Amino acid sequence: MKPLKIKKWPLLFLIAGAIAVSAVTTTVLANNTTLTVRASVLNVRLGPGLAYNVMGRVNNGTQLTVISKSNSWYQVRLAGNKIGWVASWLVDQNEPSTSSAKVATVTQAANVRASASTTAKILGRLSVGDAVNVVYTEGPWSQIAYHNTAAWVASRLIRDTGRTTTLSTPTQRAKTATTDRTTTTASTATSVTATTAANIRQAAGLNARVVTRVPKNTKLAVIKQSGEWYQVKTSTGKTGYVAGWVVSVPGATSGKVATSLGEATIVLDPGHGGSDAGALSTNGKYEKTYTLLMAKAVGAALSAQGANVVYTRDTDSFVDLEPRAATSRKLKADVFISFHFDSSPKANSATGFTSYYYSSGKSKTLASYLDRGFTNLNLTNRGIAFGNYQVLRDNSQPSVLLEMGYINTDKDFKEISSATYRQQVATDVTQSLTSYFKAGNHQ
Ligand SMILES: [Zn+2]
Repeated sequence: MKPLKIKKWPLLFLIAGAIAVSAVTTTVLANNTTLTVRASVLNVRLGPGLAYNVMGRVNNGTQLTVISKSNSWYQVRLAGNKIGWVASWLVDQNEPSTSSAKVATVTQAANVRASASTTAKILGRLSVGDAVNVVYTEGPWSQIAYHNTAAWVASRLIRDTGRTTTLSTPTQRAKTATTDRTTTTASTATSVTATTAANIRQAAGLNARVVTRVPKNTKLAVIKQSGEWYQVKTSTGKTGYVAGWVVSVPGATSGKVATSLGEATIVLDPGHGGSDAGALSTNGKYEKTYTLLMAKAVGAALSAQGANVVYTRDTDSFVDLEPRAATSRKLKADVFISFHFDSSPKANSATGFTSYYYSSGKSKTLASYLDRGFTNLNLTNRGIAFGNYQVLRDNSQPSVLLEMGYINTDKDFKEISSATYRQQVATDVTQSLTSYFKAGNHQ
């Protein structure tokens, strides 16, 4: 058991919230439970609800490994070890886990589509007066149960009758089972602290009216726990409900650590910026420009695998060295990578890239993983080396500094300034980090 690390992003809030707070409603499923996506395209979200941002999409037929279930949402592991949440009613469509649907009437002839888009495949047509069972509504589209599958119709073409109906009983649901994953309940919590600006609602549910909003770090007295929600009282005496996944519970612990890239927080540090241009190429181009481009290319590849990527700067702005390391420390980054390009006293006299570490523990291991992963680059790999850099020295987290070529060597600069090279580095870093986490180095 390790102390729960509260991180500043919704997925982990949720994991923390769901696991620590509501063992009652969260069923942890056997690791080998898989589901098949029956919807044409399925949104994968950062948390168990439509309010969470979409982190990716999966197509019909995709197999998802279920990690846990929270109310009507499954936490799933996707290809590439991404972790996200999908609505249970969108997987195994002939086994809807929501037992009720809203009955609506068709007010204008409507196309029934495979996904929520006017360009999606048409599955059929509805006539005025037809009744449809609406499973849920997202934006201008409503999902309906249609011939034992899920389909979409424009919401403006139907009208809610106010009636509900029961959908066919699930025949085979994902089996619930106790597993090796540890959960800890904290039902006796007398207070919780908002981990982000949080809405206090009239009732336990995302559709309930917002009574008040509290800033991050607000301590709230707990009146009672209600599923995934807490009934709380603010310091000004207002009462209402706050979602369990936006608060932390004192003393709550869980076995949860980032064991895959998809669960990790990666801080990327583009060297220099703003008034600090860094080194120059022989044709007068700035190092700061290419460190930012490189960090963004790597960040995009890592985000695509579900990682929480945080940049120490994402524009051409000056950021001092101390706050760069501080970002890593504050976020308890699983990995910190600083990007730079070398420069030699005499132009065109050196070449290649180097992976630097400062501390000999995890940071050196991390440097080795990255070093070994650079297999497809056109420049010479100069290997790993000790580097006494402030962003590493002041860094409490596993951290490396990559000098990805000599900017004042024309041959190197040709690579440094190419999108292809950045993409190759991004691919290599992503693969190296995947192996690094998979091998349990993080723990
Ligand atoms: Zn530099």
